[in-house]
Amino acid sequence: MGYFSVALSIASLLFLLIIFVVFKSKENIKSMQLELFSKMLLLTIFGLCIDIYGFFAFQIFDLDSMINQFIARLYIVFYFLWGLSFTYYVISISFDLEKKKSIKTITKIVAILVGLVIFLCPINIYSDGASTYSYGLSVNINYTFSFIFIIIMLYCLIKNIKRIKNKKYIPLLAYIVLATIVIIIQQVNPKLTLMIFCQSVIIFIMYHTIENPDVQMIKELNAAKDQAEKANRAKTDFLSNMSHEIRTPLNAIVGFSECMLDSNDLKETKEYAGDIVDASKQLLEIVNGILDISKIEANKVEIIPKNYNPREVFDGLRKLVLPRIKEKPIEFKMIFSPDLPGILRGDVSKVKQVILNILTNAAKYTDKGEIIFNVNCINRLDTKKCLMYISVKDSGHGIQKDKLETIFGKFERVDEDKNTTTEGTGLGLAITKGLVDLMGGRITVFSKYGEGSTFRVYLEQDIISMEVPEQENHEEEEINYTDYSGKKILIVDDSKINLKVAETLMKPYKFEIDTAISGYEALEKVNDKNYDLIFMDIMMPKMNGVETLYKLREHEDFTTPVVALTADAIEGTDEKYLSVGFNSYLSKPIDRKLLNKVINKYLGGK
Ligand code: ADP
Repeated sequence: MGYFSVALSIASLLFLLIIFVVFKSKENIKSMQLELFSKMLLLTIFGLCIDIYGFFAFQIFDLDSMINQFIARLYIVFYFLWGLSFTYYVISISFDLEKKKSIKTITKIVAILVGLVIFLCPINIYSDGASTYSYGLSVNINYTFSFIFIIIMLYCLIKNIKRIKNKKYIPLLAYIVLATIVIIIQQVNPKLTLMIFCQSVIIFIMYHTIENPDVQMIKELNAAKDQAEKANRAKTDFLSNMSHEIRTPLNAIVGFSECMLDSNDLKETKEYAGDIVDASKQLLEIVNGILDISKIEANKVEIIPKNYNPREVFDGLRKLVLPRIKEKPIEFKMIFSPDLPGILRGDVSKVKQVILNILTNAAKYTDKGEIIFNVNCINRLDTKKCLMYISVKDSGHGIQKDKLETIFGKFERVDEDKNTTTEGTGLGLAITKGLVDLMGGRITVFSKYGEGSTFRVYLEQDIISMEVPEQENHEEEEINYTDYSGKKILIVDDSKINLKVAETLMKPYKFEIDTAISGYEALEKVNDKNYDLIFMDIMMPKMNGVETLYKLREHEDFTTPVVALTADAIEGTDEKYLSVGFNSYLSKPIDRKLLNKVINKYLGGK
């Protein structure tokens, strides 16, 4: 029987040695439980060594010899330390030990003091030939502590009975079952000492139940956490930049408005009003820029292809840029490649926005010299594709080499000290790049600091026709207000300020203007009076513009044109509102020329 026990111990030792090698060769996280497991593993290996050595030593040497006494004492100390460590493990999985650091210290003190006492106390060894047993004070102390450990472990188990299904408790449950079996077996056959085998099994179970999350997973989680923190920081930076950018023109608007209130001089008042208009335009540009960039980043921008005449479109851009040059000594040259197709198909409004941004920058950051706007192309007639490459070359400030990378970032304005007098948000090129990427194109920049820059945009468009249509004359016409006295207009908006602005803009037409502050009021007014034209805000509480329109259209005899008004200036919105039944669409702030067109269209003028 003794040989059977020692054979089990040798097998356990080999097995635990393998576990030890595997455990140490694997990358582990640093945790108190893993540290404890590592110590218990070593301790059990140590115990197994003593057990195996003792089996042979007790047979070879005299039982009372120094060496056997030493081994027997070490063996009892091992049992005590193992029981203590396992109890500590059970406490650690049952209670938050981070908050109770004193338990660790107490355990250490108990381990050293009691371990020493057990080692030094008298011990007797006796052998029946097959197995060796020990008794005496040392063994009794160990039994007493084993009893205390069992009590503590049972207490932990009862306290956490609800968490019993947690796999961390499996070693404890297994220990209770196995230890009971071992004790019963030993009662039946005292020569069969299986306790150390039982402890080895517990260590084996602990190896599989102890918490050691996959290290790779932790690394990935940490990377994701870093990413999220970075994104959050970028968002905070964006918000603080944004509020700074918005506050600057807003400050001007409030300041000049206060000056206007104090001023009695008409000329001065007009000057202030002009400044307020400028600051408001700047504010509008910022808000539009922020909307654009957030839509691009949220992938909410759609490509809406339309047929367009590139010559006409680019010529229109030139007209928009020229006022920016003002009286600066700059020559603006525009060159079109002769084989530029007559009609192309692509998202013309995005093409316009991209080129306008680059041209505006050239005008802003050039003091003298020239700006050359060149449109080239390579036509592939077999596939009906045209690769446009548009370059804008200026003789302006230029951009330092190390800054060339950053200018396409949000709110990136280089050379701030030089540019302080040049208005800008630092959003233009970020939007431009976003739009170019979206259209599947490419944008490059070449610049020599102090000499000038060249921006190039490559875009592929579909060829609809090579033939160049005759250019229509779109000279800027001044608004001619037609007298529409007698006509009745209804403006619906939930904001009193917006109603006032719209009313003021429409005053010159001399028609009768009614206003409604909600969809319900609009329905009532339309019941009482026949209107010739209705302007309807879309975003209204309770009943929005679209719902109000549906209600109006329920009456068969309702034929009044309804124009949608909205601040939701998303590309393609016009189509959206036309499809739900509006006759036309105007975005806020209302452009007077567009308003004039709409009014003339529906009230009969030209
Ligand atoms: P901003 O609103 O400041 O013009 P952009 O994103 O359009 O923002 O441009 C970012 C920065 O790139 C500008 O602040 C300016 O410093 C620099 N930049 C852009 N275009 C030019 C150019 N043609 N010449 C010199 N610098 C330019």
